[in-house]
Amino acid sequence: MMKHPYLKEDHEIFRQSLRKFLEKEAYPFYEQWEEDRMVPRSFWRKMGEQGFLCPDVEEKYGGSGVDWGFSVIINEELERVGSGLVGIGLHSDIVVPYITAYGTEEQKQRWLPKCVTGEIMTAIAMTEPGTGSDLANIKTTAKLDGDHYIVNGQKTFITNGIQSDLVVVVVKTDPQAVPKHKGISLLVIERDNPGFSRGRKLNKVGLHCQDTAELIFEDCRVPKENLLGEEGRGFHYLMEKLQQERLLVAVCAQTASEVMLKLTMDYVKSREAFGKPISQFQNTQFKIAEMAADVQMGRAFLDQLIAEHMEGQNVVTKVSMAKWKLTDIAKRIASESMQLHGGYGYMEEYEIARRFRDIQVSSIYAGTNEIMKTIVVKNLGL
Ligand SMILES: Cc1cc2nc3c(=O)[nH]c(=O)nc-3n(C[C@H](O)[C@H](O)[C@H](O)COP(=O)(O)OP(=O)(O)OC[C@H]3O[C@@H](n4cnc5c(N)ncnc54)[C@H](O)[C@@H]3O)c2cc1C
Repeated sequence: MMKHPYLKEDHEIFRQSLRKFLEKEAYPFYEQWEEDRMVPRSFWRKMGEQGFLCPDVEEKYGGSGVDWGFSVIINEELERVGSGLVGIGLHSDIVVPYITAYGTEEQKQRWLPKCVTGEIMTAIAMTEPGTGSDLANIKTTAKLDGDHYIVNGQKTFITNGIQSDLVVVVVKTDPQAVPKHKGISLLVIERDNPGFSRGRKLNKVGLHCQDTAELIFEDCRVPKENLLGEEGRGFHYLMEKLQQERLLVAVCAQTASEVMLKLTMDYVKSREAFGKPISQFQNTQFKIAEMAADVQMGRAFLDQLIAEHMEGQNVVTKVSMAKWKLTDIAKRIASESMQLHGGYGYMEEYEIARRFRDIQVSSIYAGTNEIMKTIVVKNLGL
């Protein structure tokens, strides 16, 4: 177990109790959830009861008001169970922070306590069938009509799409705005809002228990009070909060790399070929040495970034580097690990098979790695 400099004894005690909880409530059921293509709501509720959802939310809204180090631990431990639990981190560390940061007092009182208990599951809907990377070009509109916005449009690839009770939807309140991003706002749309329906639950290469879906808005009348922050500031809010979203993807990718390295080291020591363990071939040893070096360097960079993020520094450039590099490394480790498992690596009984499938999307979502490079380039001031 690696030690992180921003974690104190409290954090480690917390990690142990969370791990014990997951050994009882998650590990034994994970395979079933993968088959069901869904993590049951009851598991979210149990997480909430134990204080494992949104721990950084202030106590007056039901949270524990603790630092983000606790969230890092939760995301690491969920990733150890399986990457398909990423929707829980998305709720606690990506969606709820929009309400915390930009919500009015009334909105916070209305939504936060139930987000903490798991009664409200959340999602964020940016991507549309016609646009993902080019976010400013979204087509979903929200037109003000008296006390309501009338929303029309479609979203896709939305994590927690089917199960969510509250969705932060990225809309165009001013389709004519120049530049385009100035016309973007964030609107909270709740489960029973007329005109809001779910499309298909999407069939994915991996992350099988993660619920990913399409959302449809047809003349959906959303009360004006559900606007988050100010009209026209949505793009700015997104840019502000994407730092933590991408850092989270880096945390999960790093954890996945650590898990895969461990799985592979165990395997190569136990499997024999030509009269000796395959760990004794120099090729195996060099591959393991390469992976171990990548894992160590990745961890050092990531830990420093987490500490800087927790101090409130702007680490957008470094986070973009980490998201890109750590997911690329994890994908390479997945591939080398599968190779070292031989035929067994291609069999679903071996965890590496699932890890290999699941890691692929990490270089695509939360902003593709190509987009990460464009951000790095922009900030290098070439
Ligand atoms: C499992 C999963 C879960 C997701 N969850 C969510 C969610 O909860 N909420 C949400 O809003 N979205 C979600 N997404 C969407 C995800 O963020 C987008 O898929 C992603 O941003 C890429 O957008 P796109 O699919 O439209 O690809 P495109 O933007 O069409 O990109 C296609 C290719 O072109 C490249 N490209 C695009 N622009 C440039 C450029 N300027 N320079 C160089 N290359 C470029 C891309 O890097 C990519 O390789 C999820 C996706 C998946 C697969």
